[in-house]
Amino acid sequence: MEKKDIDWENLGFGYIKTDKRFVSNYKDGAWDEGTLTDDAEIVMSECAGVLQYAQTIFEGLKAYTTKNGEIVTFRPDLNGERMEHSARRLEMPVYEKDRFVDAVLKTIKANEAWVPPYGSGASLYLRPFMFGSSPVIGVKPATEYQFRIFTTPVGPYFKGGVKPLTLKVSDFDRAAPHGTGNIKAGLNYAMSLHAIVSAHEEGYDENMYLDAGTRTRVEETGGANFIFITKDKKIVTPKSDSILPSITKRSLLTVAKDYLGLEVEERPVPLEEIGDFAECGLCGTAAVISPVGKIVDHGREICFPSGMDTPGEICMKLRDTLKAIQLGETEAPDGWIYKI
Ligand SMILES: *Cc1c(COP(=O)(O)O)cnc(C)c1O
Repeated sequence: MEKKDIDWENLGFGYIKTDKRFVSNYKDGAWDEGTLTDDAEIVMSECAGVLQYAQTIFEGLKAYTTKNGEIVTFRPDLNGERMEHSARRLEMPVYEKDRFVDAVLKTIKANEAWVPPYGSGASLYLRPFMFGSSPVIGVKPATEYQFRIFTTPVGPYFKGGVKPLTLKVSDFDRAAPHGTGNIKAGLNYAMSLHAIVSAHEEGYDENMYLDAGTRTRVEETGGANFIFITKDKKIVTPKSDSILPSITKRSLLTVAKDYLGLEVEERPVPLEEIGDFAECGLCGTAAVISPVGKIVDHGREICFPSGMDTPGEICMKLRDTLKAIQLGETEAPDGWIYKI
């Protein structure tokens, strides 16, 4: 198989159309078998449930080339499981986890030539998603759906080295108590756009959202979970029902315990406490960990000792270890790596 002629090192994070995508349709109460297709366009009713009432959910994961040249992906079963939860919450049909994993592997295989080579820092990003496609005008769930997975090659998240971010404690809320914060749905992102555009205009990289009920506890950013490191090197991560359970974060907690011998604590984290931490990082598939250097709470600056020039030591250790596991340089826990 010949790789595509792409300048892998200089790829950004944008959509590049690849050869094949997986499509399965739900009609009359059942999913069809699903198929790989060249057709990147979707044609549907102007009244489709997704267009009128935002009935859509998604996932994100990556495929890599390992040190010994194999193409792999990372814990797709957890993406499948999470998508099942998301579907139930939005009254959408479940695309069963095992079929999800099978479709992911098939889609990667069909786009093998687009998986960046080992050492490039790039990867093939997969975007599984599902939407209501039948007409809906009175408010109710659609009766027909499409499940689709496309892929796009993406460059290294941090070009020219990992650089700590500056965050703003947002005046907007991301998720209501008992709302939809714990599912991966476009609706959670639509309403975050104004907050992120405003934060960027003010010179911040990201928003820190607090719990909407009391605005006293740390939740997450628009698309990544927090981890904090105490001065005695314990990992602390916020616990809340309105946080999206990041697969990267869950994996990093295991890495911290089992590979680095660090203590891990999942519990509510008061905003008032964050000035006591030694390091802070954001976890998600895109960057693994983005170190945070400074958080600004309405004029009050909380600066982590790790500073604005270099990422914190524990954050980098966690990041390097998880990346080494994903790239086949370090042995992975059972069941984490799926070979194509
Ligand atoms: C996708 C997402 C994350 C990160 O999850 P990963 O599984 O690690 O990629 C965190 N927060 C939100 C709101 C997300 O949508």
